[in-house]
Order: sequence, then structure tokens, then C-alpha cells
Amino acid sequence: MCSRLGEKDMRIGLAMFVLSLAGGATGSALPQGYHLIPGAVPMNRGPDGNTVVLDAPKGLIAFDTGRHPEHAQKILDYAQARHRPIVAIVNSHWHLDHTTGNWDVRQAYPHVAVYASNAIEGALATFLKNERAQGDQMLADPKTPAAQKAELLRGRSVIDHPERIRPNHIIAKSGRMTIAGRPLDVHLARFAATEGDLWLYDRRSKTAIVGDLVVDIVPFMDTACPDGWAKALKEVAAVPFTTLIPGHGEPMTRADFLQWKGAYDNFVACGHSDAPVKACVDGWQRDAAKFIDAEHKAYVGEAVEYYLTTRLRSSPGEQQKYCKPLEA
Ligand SMILES: [Zn+2]
Repeated sequence: MCSRLGEKDMRIGLAMFVLSLAGGATGSALPQGYHLIPGAVPMNRGPDGNTVVLDAPKGLIAFDTGRHPEHAQKILDYAQARHRPIVAIVNSHWHLDHTTGNWDVRQAYPHVAVYASNAIEGALATFLKNERAQGDQMLADPKTPAAQKAELLRGRSVIDHPERIRPNHIIAKSGRMTIAGRPLDVHLARFAATEGDLWLYDRRSKTAIVGDLVVDIVPFMDTACPDGWAKALKEVAAVPFTTLIPGHGEPMTRADFLQWKGAYDNFVACGHSDAPVKACVDGWQRDAAKFIDAEHKAYVGEAVEYYLTTRLRSSPGEQQKYCKPLEA
């Protein structure tokens, strides 16, 4: 996601600019009827999450919609090329790199059904409110580059008008559902990467689409409950998928996912232990090496240390902050 990446953008600068997807050692072919619009985690601006477009009897389903206008435009262009409307959006979680494009899709398809948990409500009163305030400071700073200002203003427009991105179909429990005429297993993971993460399992193609429950280079723990997240990964492992599409990064085989999950579990266990910070950071870099490309290696080291100290090694209250409903 996130505000932290925004700050980092300023420091790392253009030298690290990368548009390619992170990772690269993994890879699993997508089943028929799936179209991936890859996101990216560039080092000089906020990321876009992956979008997966699925065919359904009544039209297209877009799983997540990205942050930047160019990403949203690719979703609209694909629908136009296919001569099929986007009739449903499923948002894995409320982070703005997965939901901001809801507004672009909604403007083109005003009747689109938007499925998500209601976790955005707590976020609007807390995390997103703070993010907006930080953004205001950066907007007032003459040193902030124009492109970053545009990104901040786009984020502010949906925070100030949450009806642009909020669900009109709230998912409150897991179950088999029909979305746009297509049956899908909809899973709700409570208190994982956010207060309510949705992920899909498609029995017909044995594909799991999991949003930021899996992020190739590093689990984005800014709003995470690490132990709840581990439980969610266990639930993902329990379905018999053969292809998994993460929130950021390339599609994974089951073996890739199990390796990533092992790295996640080791990292959280290390965080809960007395091991030195460096041992946990090095442990992640080692266990997840397959998923970390050279361009992101330094950033990953910093991010892992940050998540370790904030989400796993801070005061008990701070550690549990995202393991219960967010309230103002
Ligand atoms: Zn994300």
C-alpha cells in the first residue's frame, strides 16, 4: 500500500524506478477466462495492486481496481475490447491501491455491484483520516513533486467521498455465492491484512485469488494482525487450488504459495521470539528470496524491519491494534 511507501518514495528517488512486477522467479499460467492486469510496486510512487478480470454469464467481474488512473483505464479498455460490461467489483480489502479505481469503473458502469467487507468504515475513521492529514502536509509542501501531488489528490478525493469506492454489497461471512451469474467461494478473513479481507476460490479452475494475503516481496503489515493473517493463510492452504493470484506479484503455483507461507510463518515466529531484529530480517530475505527481485531487495529489508518493530515487537496495545475493530 501505503503512506509509508509514499515517504520512502522521496528518499529513494528515480534511480530505483521500476515498472516491472516484483519477483520473476515464480510463475503459473492463468486458466482460461482469467485476465490479469498486473500492478506494480515502483519505488518512486504508490503501488497498484493486481486486478483480475473474470468472465461471468452477466458480464465481467473485476477483482480489485488499483490506485492510479492508468491502471483503472486498463480495466476499462479490456472491457471495451471484449464488448462486455463490468457488472461486479470484488475488493479484497480497502487499501487504496486496490480500491481507488472503483470510482473510475463506477463512472463508466454506474450499476456495478461492489462486493467487500465493511472494514473500510473503521479505516475511514482512523487510518485513512490520518493518511489524509499527512497528505495535506505534503500537498502544502512546495518540494512535493507534481506527480506525487496528483496521487495524493486522487487519494483524498475518495477518502472525502467514500461512496465512490465503498461496497454496495457487504460480505459479512464466508460462503458460496453467485456473483454476476458465476458461482464462487467467497472467503472472509477477519483481522488479517486488514479488519476484513475477502478472497475467492473458483472450484471450476482450482484458482484462488487472495489479494494482499500474499504479496510476493514482503507482507504489507501496515494495518495487519499478524496472527490473524497466519490463520487466513492456513485457510487458503486448506482449499485445493493449483493456481494462486496474489495481491502483488505474479501468479503462483501451490508449491510457490507453500514456500511463501512458510516464510511468513517463520517471520512471525521470529518476531514473537527473542531473536535479534537482524536475524528475523535476514530470515525473511532468505526464506522469501525466490520472490524478491534485486530492485526491491533494499526496500524489503527496511520494510521487514519496520513491520517487525511496529506490528510484532511494539507494546502489547500497539501489537493488537489491528486485531480488533478499528474505532475513532
Ligand atoms: Zn496492496
